Amino acid sequence: MLSGHKKPRIIILSGPSGAGKTTLHDRLLASSRFAGRVIRSVSATTRKPRGTEQQGREYLFLSVRMFESRIRRGAFLEWARVFDNYYGTPMKNVRENLKKGRSVLLCIDVQGGQQVKKKVPEAISVFVKTPTILELRRRLEARKTDSKASIDLRLKTARKELKEARFYDHVLVNDDLSRAGRELEALVSSYIG
Ligand code: 5GP
Repeated sequence: MLSGHKKPRIIILSGPSGAGKTTLHDRLLASSRFAGRVIRSVSATTRKPRGTEQQGREYLFLSVRMFESRIRRGAFLEWARVFDNYYGTPMKNVRENLKKGRSVLLCIDVQGGQQVKKKVPEAISVFVKTPTILELRRRLEARKTDSKASIDLRLKTARKELKEARFYDHVLVNDDLSRAGRELEALVSSYIG
């Protein structure tokens, strides 16, 4: 490991869908400051691929049977049902990267975030949110990827998720993407150097 660099960590990013966590996640991974030192975890899911998503790149797309068999085998660091599908973090990839001295970034829902924190208390947990729920609605509508019913469901879920923010080590208000991105980088750097 390079001098000045501290112990690798699991970094958990959670927050309502539409709050910008995926964008912040992508920016953190693209940051030259952490090149080769922060790796993303590819989750498994039973939902169908969307748009240009590819098997093994965005997700490991599995059948319900295969997913449940992996649950039984204890292959997941955490798993949860989100919007009627299974999602889970394969343990192997996380463990191998940590062993190689790399931190691992997980973009997962609040149920999963809490499971990881319980198992690995030194994980860094960050909850990303918009300044207000109205702003979240505005962003979900602007994305134009969701039906009205889907937006309503996401907002209902968001209200529940926001109550879980208090269990996170840090709450990041994403009112301006550049600023929030810099803040996240500074935060991560304070832990891993
Ligand atoms: P999407 O289907 O839109 O890609 O993701 C839906 C939700 O599932 C998001 O909140 C996302 O963070 C969460 N998610 C993605 N991967 C995982 C995972 O491995 N575990 C858990 N618990 N949630 C996940």
